[in-house]
Amino acid sequence: MKISEIHAKKKNVLSFEIFPPKKDTELSNIDATLEILCDLNPDFISVTFGAGGSSNNNKTIEIAKKIKYKYHVEPVVHLTCLTYGSQEIDDFVHVLKSEGIENILALRGDRNPNMPEKDEFKHASELITYLRKKGDFCIAGACYPECHPESENRVAELRHLKQKVDAGAEVLLSQLFFDNDYFFHFVDDCRIAGIDVPVTPGIMPVINAAQIQRMVTLCGASFPERFRKIIRKYEDNKTALFDAGMAYALSQIIDLLANDVDGIHLYTMNNPVVARKICEGIRNII
Ligand code: FAD
Repeated sequence: MKISEIHAKKKNVLSFEIFPPKKDTELSNIDATLEILCDLNPDFISVTFGAGGSSNNNKTIEIAKKIKYKYHVEPVVHLTCLTYGSQEIDDFVHVLKSEGIENILALRGDRNPNMPEKDEFKHASELITYLRKKGDFCIAGACYPECHPESENRVAELRHLKQKVDAGAEVLLSQLFFDNDYFFHFVDDCRIAGIDVPVTPGIMPVINAAQIQRMVTLCGASFPERFRKIIRKYEDNKTALFDAGMAYALSQIIDLLANDVDGIHLYTMNNPVVARKICEGIRNII
């Protein structure tokens, strides 16, 4: 089923994001993870894609197939375009069609000096336009409540996002954030800009110190003072930081749901314990 249809049918769509394990040996563990994640009854699970010709990208489709046919949950396959030409995209589309996968999260991908870029798809909107002509997929796009790091300004960012939706993105999944006010203002701005598709907030429970550092350097999400205080207080105590990070993420999610967001996209980091605890915390809410 297309995720746009799921959104049309229900409020509070719950989705998980996972990534293919790097090592082949870890691939066998993905079943144990998927078993728990799928048992939590998400509306869909999205599977990330390495930017730039990684051999891991075959695993994206393999895992998506497992999600669909073994666990009977709807998969969304991520696809980046900066390092690909139309022939490679065509090959990918061909496989998706033959495997009956209906949902694609169409992305540009991060720039990487070690990965040569090609000229055909410079922005996600170009990939979306291309995919639209290639098949009857539901296409989702990424969005950034605190602006994409390369963005000139907020207005340009919204203009480009509107282009993405006009090109055919039917659902938007957001970058993670730790301050809900950014997301609420962002959705208001989207609606003013005429972006009418579901905009789903992405939440990542921060449960260990290494993750915090990665978040700061990679996605530039700002840390509100009350979250900073929690991290400072518990960063040297693993179990306390886990509890505090989970509680913070849960409070974010409950606040988002109370404000009638279109859904919750949980960055699970392949950690089923985290997903299960979040789901238990919102069992009577969602
Ligand atoms: P775009 O929409 O192309 O935007 C990128 C930048 O270009 C923005 O600053 C935008 O304002 C600007 N821009 C857009 N259109 C134009 C235009 N016409 N003219 C000038 N500027 C323009 N990365 C991976 O490698 N693999 C993944 O699986 C993956 N999954 C993700 C999932 C989610 C939910 C999110 C939020 C991000 C994910 N990413 C992933 C990261 C993403 O690839 C990067 O953030 C990347 O830098 C931008 O991708 P995009 O699709 O948002 O790009």
